[in-house]
Amino acid sequence: MTDTTKTLCPYCGVGCGLEVSPPAQLGKAINRDGQGDPIWKVKGDRNHPSSQGMVCVKGATIAEAIDKNRLRYPMLRDSLDEPFRRVSWDEAYECIVHRIQSVCATQGADAVCMYGSGQMQTEDYYVAQKLLKGCLGTNNFDSNSRLCMSSAVAGYVQSLGADGPPCCYEDLDLTDCAFIIGSNAAECHPIVFNRLQKHHKKNHNVVKMIVVDPRRTPTAEVADLHLAIHPGTDIDLLNGIAHLLLRWGYFESEFVSECTANFPAFAEVIPHYPPEVVAKRCGIAVEDLETAARYWGTSKRVLSLWSMGVNQSTEGTAKVRSIINLHLMTGQIGKPGCGPFSLTGQPNAMGGREVGGLCNLLPGYRHVQNAQDRAEVEQFWGVPAGRISPHWGRTAWEMITGLETGDVGLLWIVATNPAVSLPDIKRTQAALLRSPFTVYQDAYYPTETAAYAHLLLPAAQWGEKTGTMTNSERVVTLCKAFRPPVGEAKPDWEIVAEVGRRLGFADKFPFTNSAEVFAEYVQLTRDRSCDMTGISHAKLAQSPLQWPCPDTWANNNSKRLYTDLRFATPDGRARFSAYHSKGLAEPPNSEYPFVLTNGRLYGHWHTQTRTGRIEKIQQMHPQPFIEIHPRDAAKLEIQEHDLVEVRSRRGKAQFPAKVTKAISPGTLFVPMHWGALWGDETEANALTHPECDPDSHQPELKACAVQLSLVVQK
Ligand code: SF4
Repeated sequence: MTDTTKTLCPYCGVGCGLEVSPPAQLGKAINRDGQGDPIWKVKGDRNHPSSQGMVCVKGATIAEAIDKNRLRYPMLRDSLDEPFRRVSWDEAYECIVHRIQSVCATQGADAVCMYGSGQMQTEDYYVAQKLLKGCLGTNNFDSNSRLCMSSAVAGYVQSLGADGPPCCYEDLDLTDCAFIIGSNAAECHPIVFNRLQKHHKKNHNVVKMIVVDPRRTPTAEVADLHLAIHPGTDIDLLNGIAHLLLRWGYFESEFVSECTANFPAFAEVIPHYPPEVVAKRCGIAVEDLETAARYWGTSKRVLSLWSMGVNQSTEGTAKVRSIINLHLMTGQIGKPGCGPFSLTGQPNAMGGREVGGLCNLLPGYRHVQNAQDRAEVEQFWGVPAGRISPHWGRTAWEMITGLETGDVGLLWIVATNPAVSLPDIKRTQAALLRSPFTVYQDAYYPTETAAYAHLLLPAAQWGEKTGTMTNSERVVTLCKAFRPPVGEAKPDWEIVAEVGRRLGFADKFPFTNSAEVFAEYVQLTRDRSCDMTGISHAKLAQSPLQWPCPDTWANNNSKRLYTDLRFATPDGRARFSAYHSKGLAEPPNSEYPFVLTNGRLYGHWHTQTRTGRIEKIQQMHPQPFIEIHPRDAAKLEIQEHDLVEVRSRRGKAQFPAKVTKAISPGTLFVPMHWGALWGDETEANALTHPECDPDSHQPELKACAVQLSLVVQK
């Protein structure tokens, strides 16, 4: 294990290829405990098709996090007020098996929940689906992709017939107009944005960039047009652009009549969105709205990019579908340089979707409510007909409400930190306190969530296990191990498979390595839109591959979906949707006059489990802050660096003020990375609410109504 190893950055969904090589002094011996190992060398992999050698600060510093704050051994305690004691893996397995059997016997299998993560590799996900959905017979597997991408999933499925972004990164080099909405890609997906920016700069006279965001983010800074709309007015804006496109005749009638359905319903909605009305609702100038529509209408190739600002909303699915409407009416899909392209948050959020890693999905983009889908998976897994429930399992938030009502008897959390990342965090934490038994399987300790666990299971992490991940452009990369796990840590799939064997399902988990897990899984993708039967660990060891990649294809040529303009619906036609704007679930009022939004910073990742331990990143972003527009600050006599308090109907938090015109008046912004481990009262989610989109069940993390007051002047 001393040669350079090719792998993938384990942070965001851009999925940059990395090359890792050991420091010179490591060649002689690898300290299995991981203590004091020198830092591994990381650089971008020039041959990776998605990133071509580029990395951002997170990828460049990832090796510094490998050995810090690791959970090394299984640990157990009987109650949360006791200290943990180290136990053997055998004792840990027997404990969890006994607990699952006991909960199944007394409350039924639907009282068992697993909450996973887009940090899991596809093999980890697959084994978990088989155990929960196929063996135990509960669909209670959900992941933090519910907080991240589930609105994009629902939007793609409803409009195009199947999940999966139809575009690829090459489209960033080919587009004439990038329409970026609800995404601060410059900070959150920097390598994708760098590529787009390079194209934009080089062709500035012809390539336009529109950014829709209530903040003047670094992404908006370089745009030709920044539409700083009021939070919650996205559908007004999108329907308003559609109105102008129709009025001005930017409409592909042949494409619409031959390749789509439901246009009449959409056409009935659009007259209600004339530019004067839309501009007023959105808080923008009519001229800017017209410029956006003109850019879109006159461009041959429009690429829309979006992320959490669209998805994390009670209207998330409707927003995604409204973006897709614009592509359908102008025929901007299935061709180079154009299409609706959601940017995934986590490194394997895409893989999780493909393998059925949400409580409404089954492997191969199947759905639990579809009888044929269930039957196919049951037959493949060799489990009795009817074993897979026809109902959605518990979503991420429903696991929390299930703890509150006593309907969840065991919660098994894998590779995520919900005690920071779920909405209404004080309510979430109170529910976790009531959990009869929580298993926390993670690479790191301490974390905020570990404080609520009864059993800690040490997981091998990036670099310590071999498996696959799929990035935002459907490229599957083999992430190879380059060192042994620390302490007694094991790959997630191995832990779950062993629990399955001990629960009496030995024949379902015969795997001796992750390549065998992957080989079984891809058979469930055969003839599906995400066909990966032509992909194996052995082939990926040569090069990453993009799906679809059936084993019948001689070459991997899957840059774009729907190039034949046949969509994945039963009749092959994409579906227009017809939505009226409903606005925010919690609009501001006289008592709570501000809208609080939140997001990521360039260097930090999610709840800082890794990045909080990296000195360079800590120096970049040492503490949270709140952005306040100068006009709002002046009214409340708040000055730069003053300590201010933000209160919502659910909780409060305090931050130093950053007075800036980057945020719109009436809107506030805080970064979302700080949890209880980093100090008191800086949790963004102490303020957020858990109202969810009715289709995707994604919470509206991006907006809540708050009060603002001065605490201490600097
Ligand atoms: Fe990693 Fe994303 Fe940065 Fe690429 S852009 S190096 S995948 S964090």
